[in-house]
Amino acid sequence: MLIDGHVHYDFPGDLEKIKKALEITKADACCLESQIDTRKINQNIDCFYAKAILKDKIYIDGALDSYLYYHQDKMDEMPQYIERMIKCGIDGIKMIEGKPTERKLFPIPNFDDPVFDATFAYLEKVGINITWHVNDPEEFWDEDKVPDWARRSGWFYADGTYVNNMDQYRQVENLLKKHPNLSITFAHFFFLSNELDKLSQLFDTYPNISVDITPGVELFTNLSSNIEKAKNFFNKYSKRILYGTDISIDKNGLDEEDAATRKKLCHEFLALDKLVIKGNPNGLLGKDDIYLNGLNLSKEKIEEIEYKNFLRLYPVHRELDYDLIFDEIKINRQKLIEMKKDPKYLDDIEDSLIRIRNTAQ
Ligand SMILES: [Zn+2]
Repeated sequence: MLIDGHVHYDFPGDLEKIKKALEITKADACCLESQIDTRKINQNIDCFYAKAILKDKIYIDGALDSYLYYHQDKMDEMPQYIERMIKCGIDGIKMIEGKPTERKLFPIPNFDDPVFDATFAYLEKVGINITWHVNDPEEFWDEDKVPDWARRSGWFYADGTYVNNMDQYRQVENLLKKHPNLSITFAHFFFLSNELDKLSQLFDTYPNISVDITPGVELFTNLSSNIEKAKNFFNKYSKRILYGTDISIDKNGLDEEDAATRKKLCHEFLALDKLVIKGNPNGLLGKDDIYLNGLNLSKEKIEEIEYKNFLRLYPVHRELDYDLIFDEIKINRQKLIEMKKDPKYLDDIEDSLIRIRNTAQ
């Protein structure tokens, strides 16, 4: 069995492409990571639509309500929003809120700011897992080391207009001190693949935090360059590491070759002693072939990482509540109109959901 814990979907992406991605990567199910979005409140409604059609194959990490970031006097309403999302049918929470570009696009409070207290206290109490993207590779803050491809994507962060990565690590640690039982999977290895001692210390202090191995090329090259240390780490903390590809399906479709490469990289790195990833000028890892040392883990350890940890962190695979989703669509529409954004995509999803529910009855 294989569960891809980290996939993205944005409507009107073709749902057949999600099926195709699962086929290519031989995954039985995936968890869609809904994000706050400048055109929408977030992608939660998009993900409900995907779950309505693809059912058992889809788990959802739902995003928080980005509208409330613009109305921080109402941040105490976030727990009710999360509660409603859970009743609608999300299985976990996604926060892209620590990616520097998103922190620049949205007025997101510092994570240890008291306005976030009610939100995190509620998440801690409910025990729902949060997949959280905090920071990016450390080179992206370094004028001399930032790769050209990252700079072209707008991911050079040392020009003084972006949040500082050390500052975000500090905010997250302050938050964990306040809410030590939060269940969090930090995406992309929490960008600490070069600092395994630091990550060990966090794992030993906070029992419910984990990381996923979604690429980030640097994650694999860093671990490969110190493979004995990486092997010890993965063997010791195999219950705290989750498989995920970060494959993305949107209106531009699915990059099938990239999807296959992501799967190959993640799986072979866990399973083999050595691996080669073919270069691809348009792909994830650049034009040159990449030679990596792998972890050569036991079958048991690989199974933990590739699905058992996910099933432990996501013990309930929730059903959708269509009536509540229709209520949410109404609320979303009002908020988008107030924010002078186009709510048309909601009409399209609503029509489809009405048809799906009617045929099911
Ligand atoms: Zn992602």
